[in-house]
Amino acid sequence: MSTLFSGEKAFKHIEKLAVEIGPRQGGYKEDRLAAEYIESEFKKLGLKTWRQGFEIKTGRTTAQRLEILEPYTEAVECEGMSMIGVSGPEGVEGELIRIETTDEEYLTPEIEGKIVVTNAVKRKNLELIAKRKPMGFIFIERYPRVLTKHFWGNFPQGKDYGNFPSVRVSFEDGLRLLKKGAKKARIVVEAERGTKKTQNVVAELPGSTRPEEIVVVGGHYDSVPGVRGASDNAGGIAMTMELARVFKEKGSRRTLRFVAWGSEEMGLDGSNLYAKNLKKADKEAKEKDEETETELDLHRLCVNLDVHGAMIGTNAAMVLGTPMLTNSVKLLSRETGTVFEVKEGVYSSDGTPLSAVGIPSVSFSRRSGIDIMMHSVEDTIEYLSPDALELQGRFIETWMTRYVSEAAAFPFEREIPEKLRGEIKKYYDDWHEKLP
Ligand SMILES: [Zn+2]
Repeated sequence: MSTLFSGEKAFKHIEKLAVEIGPRQGGYKEDRLAAEYIESEFKKLGLKTWRQGFEIKTGRTTAQRLEILEPYTEAVECEGMSMIGVSGPEGVEGELIRIETTDEEYLTPEIEGKIVVTNAVKRKNLELIAKRKPMGFIFIERYPRVLTKHFWGNFPQGKDYGNFPSVRVSFEDGLRLLKKGAKKARIVVEAERGTKKTQNVVAELPGSTRPEEIVVVGGHYDSVPGVRGASDNAGGIAMTMELARVFKEKGSRRTLRFVAWGSEEMGLDGSNLYAKNLKKADKEAKEKDEETETELDLHRLCVNLDVHGAMIGTNAAMVLGTPMLTNSVKLLSRETGTVFEVKEGVYSSDGTPLSAVGIPSVSFSRRSGIDIMMHSVEDTIEYLSPDALELQGRFIETWMTRYVSEAAAFPFEREIPEKLRGEIKKYYDDWHEKLP
């Protein structure tokens, strides 16, 4: 089967988004510039486009400092996580306590009023953490030789768990402060916070013979604050845009809806909204007439593209659907000799909210050693290549041509097995969010 997907063309989109525009935090100017660029490219292809706007709670860290006060003094480089807490200009001062995880058994009353030195907060333990009242957190990166992640905190939006001024430090700095027996420290984290507007950008190629069957193909275009997000996810949105070009040229029996998701990094905001809207309209229509076929029913599949382009890496696919969907990727992998790791389960990205409302999804990504630099300033274009994009792009093009755009009958059941539905529910529970 001949393919049209061009790695060079996709790579140019990454250059525009991750190099020229740069960091694209949801709700800020660069996020808007990225949305405008993507929409204008969709329009150039002659596709009908629209936007789905929404508001997010967000902000930026304006000051961040970690000072070790006892038994020695040192200013340690750090990244403030201002969504978890802010300190005021004088900061907070406290005794340090080391716990290796925030699993329930380690969250003892001892941590009250102290600065907890640990590796990560588990979201499912937020309520318990709030009850134990630590003063703040120092998070140590999990891997050596990488810079601290610029994640300003990932607590669920709009919920009050308390105020914990917190910073991230590198693995090496964390190692040093533990070895030197740091006992007391001061944390300063200040931020601007507020509500901002962002959007999903949608482009549609109507199906020629089965326009009522809708398949969503998408990737998020925002990045973590201050981070260029070349692989995560200029790579995925670039693939989405190149697939739009390819299928505009090839045509499709079914409707292909290309979506550039907004504000994924703050908690899958754009895709959650899209799923919630479908569900709400479906509920309202079915209350009137149970037999009505709604837009939600017409959605047959979501193809999600998140984390792409690493020159050295392995193609991966994560499926929320029936074995037919999983096996289609496995079969084509063997047939074409394009190596793929195929698994069933939740991929923490924009396919999951759609699957939470019953639409099967497959998330394609490119796993790589550079994943340890994800969400840090090291996620830059130098590790990516047009060849890697083309290898996976041509595979997805072939797979979509066979099973989506040209298939006589849609081959995948519109069904998510119970075990996977349970995993989706657990994902939302751990994250303290309601299912859409
Ligand atoms: Zn991502």
